[in-house]
Amino acid sequence: MYECPNCGGNLKFSIEDQLMKCDYCQTTCDPYSLHKENDAEETFAFEATIFTCPQCGGEILSTDNSAAEFCSFCGASTILSSRLSNEKRPVRIIPFQITEDACKKAYLSRMRRALFAPKELKQEKALNQFRGIYIPYYTYHVIQKGSAQLKGTKQYRKGDYDYTDHYRLTGDIDASYSNLSFDASSTLDDTISRQISPYQPSDEKQFTPAFLSGFYADISDIGEDVYIEDAKQIANSASMKKIREMKPFKSLHPDPGITPSSQSTSLCTKTKRPEALMYPVWFMSYRHKDRVAYATINGQTGKISSDIPIDPVKYLISTLLLAVLLFFLLNPVLTLTPTGLLILSALLSVVTFILFWLETRKIYRRDTRLDDKGYQDLTRRQAKEKTKKKAPKKATFTYYNHSLPVTKEIPLSMTFGEFWTYSKTPVFGRQLPGFLGSVFALVIAIIILMVHPVSDIWYYGGCFLTFLCTLFTMAAILLKYNTLATRPLPQFIRKGDGK
Ligand SMILES: [Zn+2]
Ligand SMILES: [Zn+2]
Repeated sequence: MYECPNCGGNLKFSIEDQLMKCDYCQTTCDPYSLHKENDAEETFAFEATIFTCPQCGGEILSTDNSAAEFCSFCGASTILSSRLSNEKRPVRIIPFQITEDACKKAYLSRMRRALFAPKELKQEKALNQFRGIYIPYYTYHVIQKGSAQLKGTKQYRKGDYDYTDHYRLTGDIDASYSNLSFDASSTLDDTISRQISPYQPSDEKQFTPAFLSGFYADISDIGEDVYIEDAKQIANSASMKKIREMKPFKSLHPDPGITPSSQSTSLCTKTKRPEALMYPVWFMSYRHKDRVAYATINGQTGKISSDIPIDPVKYLISTLLLAVLLFFLLNPVLTLTPTGLLILSALLSVVTFILFWLETRKIYRRDTRLDDKGYQDLTRRQAKEKTKKKAPKKATFTYYNHSLPVTKEIPLSMTFGEFWTYSKTPVFGRQLPGFLGSVFALVIAIIILMVHPVSDIWYYGGCFLTFLCTLFTMAAILLKYNTLATRPLPQFIRKGDGK
């Protein structure tokens, strides 16, 4: 706690004034003028209280002594246990620029447009869950200096022949990229931090712990070098774009090389050690049964990222109204033979199957956090520690590969077993794989079309059955949508230096 020099009250950082302000007498003072005993400038650490959630194990730090009554990560409302700790000092910080009121306003205007969102998400209770949290980031500085060597081709046509000439392009490169920042916490999903980026470095201030007073901060738990390759690739593609735009190369098509590392070699790409930063976010979690939805707002720019589940009742009523409307509009124009109708229903079942499969893939990708490099890094390190513990005497060597391919290239291999598990949806009080409806529908339609019965009743009956089965998969898609719009409850095995 920082004491007010005037009355001894609690000083907190005020966003409006960008200064420290007393709760009681409104005295303001400069954050750099305040020091705690253990926070001497020369040390690389600062004293903080770490709160641990008993339910999910998530940790959050604060420089105030006030207790935390709920967990921002899993949404549980319990008293979090606390302990004192010395935390590594970041170099710079962007203090909050968006006030809590402005954050709530931005969120409400987003929710107003979300027609099918459950009303709990728009109520006061949800709004009061917003909490100001500083998220640790690493910022990389990339330099490209030296003689760049690229391959290039030139294609043209002469008479009946196509020619391709190969060139070796050389030139001097002198480029630098700064402020390539990536979130350094495994708790914040990389997909969220991408959505609320960028932060403007113009508001960065030298760090002093007083800025954290009145807010919370997340703990950095990811190795410094996890994002080196990502930073290099951003620089490489930016430089390649520039080179392609240069006059002499316009007709020449410079080829950047196939692998990221060969790109870095040909462009002389190097990085400096990253710097630790803290960036502000307003963070809210909404617990829905055994899932959780997050709303996150950039505390500097007000950019918003929000998981928006839908209210199935609201959604069904609107869809039904639309279907009735379509029926009356199409009825006079559309005439179908019984066979045509059956083929159409079969096609519909195939389409729903594909939709269901795509949705399941997305859920799988989100739940296993394939797009979150920071989280993947932590899991890998934990797995590595486990193997170490198992065989302490053996000299094992684990190759630790930092240069993961860029996010979109991570292959998504889902076995049939995983697909089966992820397909299960609670219907009729049982967990049934949602795609079964489409499969049955297709089988029924194919059998009838092959047997080719004389009476039309078979076709109409078949259509009706096929439609019912397809409806089952459609319902499953709808129910799955909410799984997709939310996240599994987090389970943090180990964060920071705790056990
Ligand atoms: Zn005071
Ligand atoms: Zn929790």
